[in-house]
Amino acid sequence: MKKLTLSEAEVLASKFRSENGLSPAAPISTKTLLRKLNITAMYRPLSDNSFGISCRSKSGKMFILVNSKSTRGRQHFTIAHELYHLYYDENPSPHMCRGVASGEEKNANMFASALLLPKEGILPLISRNEIISHKVELATILRIEQMFEVSRLNLLLRLKDLGLINERQLQNIQSLSVKDTAREYGYDLSLYESGNDGVFIGDFGEKARTLFESGQISESHYFELLNMISYGSKKN
Ligand SMILES: [Zn+2]
Repeated sequence: MKKLTLSEAEVLASKFRSENGLSPAAPISTKTLLRKLNITAMYRPLSDNSFGISCRSKSGKMFILVNSKSTRGRQHFTIAHELYHLYYDENPSPHMCRGVASGEEKNANMFASALLLPKEGILPLISRNEIISHKVELATILRIEQMFEVSRLNLLLRLKDLGLINERQLQNIQSLSVKDTAREYGYDLSLYESGNDGVFIGDFGEKARTLFESGQISESHYFELLNMISYGSKKN
């Protein structure tokens, strides 16, 4: 497995955007993207140090499981990370993705970061002075993370990779409470909270309905199948 450079990750992310009809600069709605790519996804509580898992069946059907205990911002990163495994991992094998970044995990993180936070999208939001001084203001950081729906840490690491902030600024901003700063600037806090527990994305329900309507399964079997995915509607 080859270790991706930052510029290779950028190219891969741009290629992914153009091949899937996404504009080069716009924020990505991960749920809409999953639907568009016909990927089945489930959000369920996993252990604290787990983010997600993905796999591809022999017939090519793709599946992602996302930890609903992660913050919503982190969940978006997890989905983008899993997209790397599904589309570009040279030796994909189902595994739980945790915080440890080595080998393909590191490649998947770099791809996710470039995909969710494209240079073309974030640079227009950063002023000339901020670029020259390598110091991005907290107000700008909040605006970008809210617009692109990523966690504070994911954004800071991306800004550092792009040379827009230095290690000291990263440490300074990381020492501030994410929720307190967002509250002070009047932002909604849901990005920084867990959520989506039980949400299911996919055409499972539609397929069950077709089977029932065509008489291939009984009404009780149909409701049994729907119950398998109704966990979310009960909880949310
Ligand atoms: Zn992974």
